[in-house]
Amino acid sequence: MKHDRHELTFQTTTRRELINITERVRQCVRQSGVNHGLVLVNAMHITASVFINDDESGLHHDYEMWLETLAPEKPYDRYRHNTYEDNADAHLKRTIMGREVVVAITDGDLDFGPWEQIFYGEFDGKRTKRVLVKIIGE
Ligand code: ZN
Repeated sequence: MKHDRHELTFQTTTRRELINITERVRQCVRQSGVNHGLVLVNAMHITASVFINDDESGLHHDYEMWLETLAPEKPYDRYRHNTYEDNADAHLKRTIMGREVVVAITDGDLDFGPWEQIFYGEFDGKRTKRVLVKIIGE
């Protein structure tokens, strides 16, 4: 069995951002030489997510509105976590958007359903964050 490990790094200029990382993950799969297997992609921080959905700007706006309804950023003092930090909303947003995805690798490429794309969801940005890409297979 082959295995490979990569880290992707992100430094957003805004607190919240959704970034399509599909091509970066695909490049990792190609470099690994794995033709049939699995790729795990997970955020290495508890205020960021990796998830799969459509790359459609209206939907991304809907995510922002929905997440702000569930866990609004402000007022900061509504959260007990916000004593020496102000990112309680980001922890909650990360929980509902998920930590990781696993995608099948078939014939050396990501084996997606229609319109599936991999996203990095940043909820407490403006600093360097990492995503782990772990590939196993043959
Ligand atoms: Zn925190």
